[in-house]
Amino acid sequence: MDIYTRSVKPVHTPSPSNSVAPPLYQTSVYAFEDIDEVDALLGGTRKGYSYTRGGNPNYDALAEWLAEMEEVEAAVPTGSGTAALLAGILTLLPHPGRILVAREIYGGTVGISRRFLGRLGYRMEWIDTHNLEEVERAVGGDTAVLVVETISNPLGRVCPLDELIPLAHAHGVPVLVDNTFATPFHARPAAWGADLVAHSLTKFIGGHSDLVLGMLAGPRARIAEATSLIDSGGLTPDPFATWLAYRGARTLSLRMERSSQNALALAQHLETLPAVMRVYYPGLASHPDAAHAARLLSRGSGAIVSMSLKGGYEAAQAMVSRLRLVKFVPSLGDVTTTLSHPVVASHRELTAEEKVQVGIDPSVVRISVGLEGIGDILEDFSQALAAGG
Ligand SMILES: *Cc1c(COP(=O)(O)O)cnc(C)c1O
Repeated sequence: MDIYTRSVKPVHTPSPSNSVAPPLYQTSVYAFEDIDEVDALLGGTRKGYSYTRGGNPNYDALAEWLAEMEEVEAAVPTGSGTAALLAGILTLLPHPGRILVAREIYGGTVGISRRFLGRLGYRMEWIDTHNLEEVERAVGGDTAVLVVETISNPLGRVCPLDELIPLAHAHGVPVLVDNTFATPFHARPAAWGADLVAHSLTKFIGGHSDLVLGMLAGPRARIAEATSLIDSGGLTPDPFATWLAYRGARTLSLRMERSSQNALALAQHLETLPAVMRVYYPGLASHPDAAHAARLLSRGSGAIVSMSLKGGYEAAQAMVSRLRLVKFVPSLGDVTTTLSHPVVASHRELTAEEKVQVGIDPSVVRISVGLEGIGDILEDFSQALAAGG
């Protein structure tokens, strides 16, 4: 064989079944012995993989992990958390209609519902998921899907899913729950009847700020529908991202346990600092949803602590530049403690009036608490907030 043939010729790749870690199937396509085999695969009468947009062993490994964690039948990965929300909404609401979203929903979900699906005739409406009478009024009428989060960003509102989901179902309205902030370590929305559960694995499940990935979890039939949409819409991830995510996912429980313990200690500490106007953490007795958190969240209240500062935007700005250990990172869920500014970053999509309704203003900062020793985290915030208040 000449050099051109040798350079492209595939090497023989044995697939030992006893490797401890799953191999990475970084391939876009598979090779076949005959046409019948491909016909059977694409026709669905034979199991296997043909083209990676439609399926890959690394997708399946991660899907099996999440399905077990959420205690549901099936799951499917997507190219981002946003893609998971888009595919989830389209699965539950295939024809244009009303998308009801929780008042304090992630800005990106507003982007999908308004900018993306709005062009296709869908209509987004806000709803206060803590006011069940308002929900009751809103879910009646024309078709709708309800999109909520277990724990909201950034103020840690805990949605009363155990009351809300049955209420929506009584009106025939399916519910999509974004469980990114709680993770299955703290809550399993399927236990209260969620029709689909969405995740951004970019955050805690990936856990190391090195990938962008999403996932949907739920009953087998719904996930099959979502999988077909994800394939036909090209919302699939790269195999490497799913391989990396699986690697991070396996330490999720340990990371969340530690981060949540650190978060509670930090929240309690921040409440004692004179520069702090208010701390928002559902594990604190002072939080408006402390009772929902105690009833619905297991093993702690998550890793996100927010606070507003008496000195407003200027105080937030000064604190960020004084922090030594904690970095400004417009995301969350890393192994280190990071901090963001909702008005400038995650909630940019909202109008000024909507920001007021959600309860955020330029004095609010959001902290994603990591795995450091708690003494070092407390010390960094104490020194950054001491000078000048
Ligand atoms: C980040 C995030 C998303 C979007 O995920 P991407 O992976 O960035 O697309 C959705 N929901 C919540 C709650 C998030 O924090």
